[in-house]
Amino acid sequence: MRAEVLFPRLTTTYGRFYCAPRRLHRYNNSSSSSQFLKLNLSRFSGGLCLLTAFFHMEQYHSGTGSSGKKAMVETLERFGVISSKRVGQVMETLDRGLFVPVGSSSAYVDTPMPIGYNATISAPHMHATCLQLLEDKLQPGMRALDVGSGTGYLTGCFALMVGDEGRVVGVDHIPELVDMSIKNIEKSVAASLLKKGSLSLHVGDGRKGWQEFAPYDAIHVGAAASKIPQPLLDQLKPGGRMVIPLGTYLQELKVIDKSEDGSVKVHTETSVRYVPLTSRDEQLGGF
Ligand code: SAH
Repeated sequence: MRAEVLFPRLTTTYGRFYCAPRRLHRYNNSSSSSQFLKLNLSRFSGGLCLLTAFFHMEQYHSGTGSSGKKAMVETLERFGVISSKRVGQVMETLDRGLFVPVGSSSAYVDTPMPIGYNATISAPHMHATCLQLLEDKLQPGMRALDVGSGTGYLTGCFALMVGDEGRVVGVDHIPELVDMSIKNIEKSVAASLLKKGSLSLHVGDGRKGWQEFAPYDAIHVGAAASKIPQPLLDQLKPGGRMVIPLGTYLQELKVIDKSEDGSVKVHTETSVRYVPLTSRDEQLGGF
């Protein structure tokens, strides 16, 4: 059942792209109170609505620092988006406030935000969903690739989870975003990992992956591809997992597991809306 049918006045499109499960939400950030309405008609799997539907209205304090982060994580836990302690911990540890555009009062509100260059920082529930899906492949010492790393927030979460014995690579094709993500990380608790070299952020076409540190236990793609790029499949370790949004207007978050014999299994996690995984020129057209 579609959210728009149930609550027609509460559902709108956030913008052109919003990096969020499509059936999730209506948010209303008034400048003073940042009230938000959240409508979540749950997760889809294999086209079936499996879980609960809920409607939630909450006074959201968009304060900075630990209270904002804590409230954000608690809300995501309460609604079952976060079930892993490690995921909750990492999202509380890495301050999203350092990664959103300067001056934004909505750092901890569950909404995506424009970051320039026709890109967005994904909503917290989307970051949480991807961390949950990849958690087993983000154990200390493991390797992860973040394609379309944007602000570097998720890349930083990966780095904190795999630790200094692991290796995390972020790739984005907009040099200004890569510079910004490095500056963001440098201000954060993940700075030492960048310094030690277990975390790095690069300019490149993420459709080609990043061969230097392959194979990866975890690959996350933060932009929607029309089909799974072969180099990413090749760079996924046997036993590894990739999370990638696929599709153009209608998009689905796919989870790809590569078994030890190299065969792959794909399942659909949810319906989403991401910016496209494309060429730099195409992304910047009209910007
Ligand atoms: N996950 C990030 C950003 C998501 S927006 C965050 O939450 O901050 C998607 C990002 O994918 C944008 O930064 C965009 O520049 C990047 N992108 C799109 N196509 C790409 C490509 N071919 N190679 C590398 N990055 C790409």
